[in-house]
Amino acid sequence: MDRGYWDNYWLGSGHLTPSNEYDIAEICLNGHVSNDSTKVNPSECKPFCDECGEKTITKCQNCSNDIRGYKINTNYNYSYKAPAYCINCGLPFPWIAKKLEAALELADLTDDFDDKDKEILSKNLNDLVRDTPRTQVAAIQFKKLVYRLEPHFIEGFKSILYNVLSDPVNKMIW
Ligand SMILES: [Zn+2]
Ligand SMILES: [Zn+2]
Repeated sequence: MDRGYWDNYWLGSGHLTPSNEYDIAEICLNGHVSNDSTKVNPSECKPFCDECGEKTITKCQNCSNDIRGYKINTNYNYSYKAPAYCINCGLPFPWIAKKLEAALELADLTDDFDDKDKEILSKNLNDLVRDTPRTQVAAIQFKKLVYRLEPHFIEGFKSILYNVLSDPVNKMIW
């Protein structure tokens, strides 16, 4: 789809003004983006996710503000990622909590982690999914820890976390 055409169409029709330069995203509770532009492409909306069947939301469940979607006035196509945190209330979206839980569950399955390792993992995971002053240290510690494991565990962590980590963090770890 030629986004430029639709951007102009919607801007021209007064539905979106330049100050309102982000669309609203629809995302399932597991973090699949089912529609990154619900205003521009309303026909793409789905009440349930076509990848996992989970309910989709367009608003933060805590503060009820819209979930920021695709940036409208961009001249290039970038790939939209589900945000980790609500920009209006600061709470993590449900998919982040689910991913962290799944990662810790995976950590429980390996005999190569003792309680101390799991504690370090848990602490670092919280900094990996956010951009904090500790993110880089967390990435290095996480890598040190996880690369001791058998390859299928590393793959497991990668498939759980890849979509919620930022590009620089993914580059650092995998
Ligand atoms: Zn889904
Ligand atoms: Zn919120």
